[in-house]
Amino acid sequence: MTSANTSDPISPASDRKSLRPDCGSCFALCCTAFGFSRSADFALDKPAGTPCQNLAQDFSCTIHDSLRPRGFRGCTVFDCFGAGQNVSQQFFAGKSWLAEPDTKDNMFAAFKAARQLHEMLWYLAEAVNRTFDPDAADRAELLRNLIEQTLGGDLTKLLSTDAQDFHSQVRSILMEVSEEVRASYFAAGDDHLDATLKPGADLIGRNLRSRRLCGADLRGAYLIAADLRNSDLSGADLLGADFRDARLEGTDLSRTIYLTQPQLNAARGNHTTRIPADLETPSHW
Ligand code: SF4
Repeated sequence: MTSANTSDPISPASDRKSLRPDCGSCFALCCTAFGFSRSADFALDKPAGTPCQNLAQDFSCTIHDSLRPRGFRGCTVFDCFGAGQNVSQQFFAGKSWLAEPDTKDNMFAAFKAARQLHEMLWYLAEAVNRTFDPDAADRAELLRNLIEQTLGGDLTKLLSTDAQDFHSQVRSILMEVSEEVRASYFAAGDDHLDATLKPGADLIGRNLRSRRLCGADLRGAYLIAADLRNSDLSGADLLGADFRDARLEGTDLSRTIYLTQPQLNAARGNHTTRIPADLETPSHW
């Protein structure tokens, strides 16, 4: 009998594939529904509900290969968790807002609502995959089913859903599973983490290089431009942590909890960064 290599990434949750974007099946909803302001992430202002000036008629981006040098870093960070293709194909039967302009408002509103729910499904899949508590797994599954029903194609139901209600239920399960997973990284008397490494902590620019950060609760922490090179974040809860420009070369993120593609996309890493099996190495690394 062979034991699992604890340095291996956690196996991907089996059903997360549908939670990855499929831009070819989407009517560029992220380039239309949301607005953005001229900033370090976007080179121009764009009101919500209008197509970006770089959007082509076939819903492709005319500057796709040079987004970062052209000042559109924000576009390379965004991820819809598969909501774009779901709304385009399931809720609107593959008929675009360009072909049927009357559907525009509802389609964009549906996308905004669906993205939140798809993101919750992403986290819940991880909770189910990581917990050893059958009761927690059952409750997470139940919530997933309820959210999936809301995403089943009934537009009225989707638009009238209170995402906040789902959000608080999801949050409670995620925290419970996080506690369980993180606890497994502490032996009795193990105090490898200092008190500043806590949820919501301001760790902007902090030197956390070559540290053992296993089991840290960094939920909502500000890790902007933090130096995490060659550190081990196995079992660290990274839910909503801000990774903009964080240095991740040589960092082991393969067994973290609740890391998402947008967080990775916002950070700076390279081929030596170890990432969870569900995520992809950002193309700009
Ligand atoms: S720059 Fe390209 S990817 Fe970004 S919003 Fe505009 S069309 Fe979409």
